[in-house]
Amino acid sequence: MTIEFRDLKRQYQTYKSEIDQAIADVLKSGTFIGGEPVKVLEKELADYVGVKHCITCANGTDALTLVLLAWGIGEGDAVFVPDFTFFATAEVVAYAKATPIFIEVDEKTFNMDPQKLENAIKEVISEGKLNPKVIIPVDLFGLPANYPEIEDIGLKYELLVLEDGAQGFGGHINGKRACSFGHAATTSFFPAKPLGCYGDGGAIFTNDDELAELLNSLKVHGKGKDKYDNVRIGMNSRLDTIQAAILRVKLKAFIDHEVKDVNKIAAVYNKELNEIVKTPYIPEGYYSSYAQYTIKLKDGIDRENLINELNILGIPSMVYYPKMLSEQMVFNSTKVNKDVKLNISSKVLALPMHPYLNGDELDYIISEVKVAILKIEANN
Ligand SMILES: *Cc1c(COP(=O)(O)O)cnc(C)c1O
Repeated sequence: MTIEFRDLKRQYQTYKSEIDQAIADVLKSGTFIGGEPVKVLEKELADYVGVKHCITCANGTDALTLVLLAWGIGEGDAVFVPDFTFFATAEVVAYAKATPIFIEVDEKTFNMDPQKLENAIKEVISEGKLNPKVIIPVDLFGLPANYPEIEDIGLKYELLVLEDGAQGFGGHINGKRACSFGHAATTSFFPAKPLGCYGDGGAIFTNDDELAELLNSLKVHGKGKDKYDNVRIGMNSRLDTIQAAILRVKLKAFIDHEVKDVNKIAAVYNKELNEIVKTPYIPEGYYSSYAQYTIKLKDGIDRENLINELNILGIPSMVYYPKMLSEQMVFNSTKVNKDVKLNISSKVLALPMHPYLNGDELDYIISEVKVAILKIEANN
């Protein structure tokens, strides 16, 4: 059996007629930037998330950059990011000429540890060199970060909170949806994300009317009353009309069944694997969109060995992420939290996960993971 890590072809086959029709409609309309599909999608996304404004843009990295630009973040500012996330979360901070401060993550949730965050804020304040400005929590692997505590810390120290929900779209905390936390939130429609398009795409969510207006200007060259009246320095960052049309079909499937399906699959994985590996920890009241199904291997299980064993059996697995951000060479000169847990990145392994994984495939993966781990343990 050969299994896809994330089977986008199967999703396309399931919705082929609707997606083909949506693309054909855009081609016929002759409008390829903006237009009705983008406007309608923004409304649908905002309604689903439960916020006033959705501003689509070219990708999830631009989404973060646009918010930092709108907030005027730059040199001398400290921005707090988790040490364990995709590079872009910290890249946008450095790109804005601000300083990323890496915060240790909780070993169970893999998300920013609120206590460590507060310690780091206090340290930056007492050093007096940088101005603490923004916290960017990440909903890693689909699990919303600890917003109840992080938002309190934000209030206490008067910092802005920007939710990086690139992986979190579809999750919630007690019914409050991912991408509705903080002062603004962003997501990505990169094809492999929980809600993906057929290329690059991204969006920003906020309840702040002024911020929404500013973002709509910044994403189109700092436009004033129109594109040729430029009142500020902005960017060119828009979601293509074709991508918006595709996303409208996919959003429906996402809401109808896809998020539920990945949660059903996760429940089976959890039940079958929890004795031999650490399965994902979902706190009470939290719901994950399972952008990844990430297990943590026990001490003594050689990860490379396991990856190879699974590969031979047609089971792909991925290491998200092989390095902590503070270990990335480009951030070497940046200030690093001294007691960062470097062991997390060496122990994690993501298994195939997507809404179209069928029962036979799931059983096969589970039994082969068990066999492979037992074999590695026996040879130790
Ligand atoms: C994917 C991702 C991004 C960037 O999104 P792009 O659309 O690829 O630019 C940012 N943050 C996190 C946590 C991501 O996973």
